[in-house]
Amino acid sequence: MASPTIKLNSGYEMPQVGFGLWKVDNAVCADTVYNAIKAGYRLFDGACDYGNEKECGEGVARAIKEGIVKREDLFIVSKLWQTFHDEDKVEPITRKQLADWQIDYFDLFLIHFPAALEYVDPSVRYPPGWFYDGKSEVRWSKTTLQQTWGAMEKLVDAGLARSIGISNYQAQSVYDNLIYARIRPATLQIEHHPYLQQPDLVNLAQKEGITVTAYSSFGPTGFMEIEDFRVKHAAPLMESPVIKEIATKHKKTPAQVLLRWATQRGLAVIPKTSRSEVMAQNLDSVNFNLDDGDLTKIAEMDLNIRFNKPTNYFSADKLF
Ligand code: NAD
Repeated sequence: MASPTIKLNSGYEMPQVGFGLWKVDNAVCADTVYNAIKAGYRLFDGACDYGNEKECGEGVARAIKEGIVKREDLFIVSKLWQTFHDEDKVEPITRKQLADWQIDYFDLFLIHFPAALEYVDPSVRYPPGWFYDGKSEVRWSKTTLQQTWGAMEKLVDAGLARSIGISNYQAQSVYDNLIYARIRPATLQIEHHPYLQQPDLVNLAQKEGITVTAYSSFGPTGFMEIEDFRVKHAAPLMESPVIKEIATKHKKTPAQVLLRWATQRGLAVIPKTSRSEVMAQNLDSVNFNLDDGDLTKIAEMDLNIRFNKPTNYFSADKLF
């Protein structure tokens, strides 16, 4: 079972169904990546902040060594953490991340969040996380997104990234990027599920030729693992009567309906799981079509609830 691909504005083909690496425990990460490759996944969505890039690299290296895949069969995505937004920090940290993955280029490298934090040397703490002191102090950097984007473009020039993109940008920052981009973002990665559909942002990106990747396609489920208190405000999507009814009608699982809803809108998806049978199920989610009635019912589920907000991590009391 292989995923269909989407042609990016950079000219490269990107698998439409990939594998997410956030919250994959270090102890099982190498095996998880290796098993996902065996299950047919070719796109892996990693990040400095996930703290498991070395283990991801071990899984990839094992699969390559055993002849299951070649490097060029894989599409490896990683992200620039906020503490590395300063222009002179982008290339060195990218080289470190590449070394962790045991590869010499990323297929796609994203700005993780459009907000720069003050530099923390990797020898002090890695991954650095949100807090300058590792506890609670948030120190913003004065580096602009335009400066950081210029350094991202140089990664392409240097052959360290084939495509570059953005994540967690809203419309204003996408428009801003398009004013100064010498290399346009190939993808925009955003939180996207029936409770947060963001049709205007998706339309804007697609109109501008930027492929949208949906993360947290299962909504609150991905945030239950970090015991995020906001999940209490939204029922699990996989247990929604609307999603279950559509799944029964198509003889699919609720998870497959949630993924197909996104891929049918032209988005890529990057679900995460550690279980082999679920890996196969998620990859096999593109071989049916939701009908107009299904799409209307899902459109009515939009609550505009966002689970992944940076401020949630350091000012939970100011949320509601
Ligand atoms: P997700 O939406 O993929 O949900 C993961 C949860 O769903 C896990 O608990 C898993 O066990 C369960 N699950 C997966 N498939 C299932 C199935 N078929 N049936 C039942 N349960 C199933 O959550 P996520 O990890 O938040 O998002 C996916 C990926 O998106 C991440 O791993 C990461 O790579 C990326 N991401 C990026 C950002 C960003 O800021 N750019 C933020 C969050 C996530």
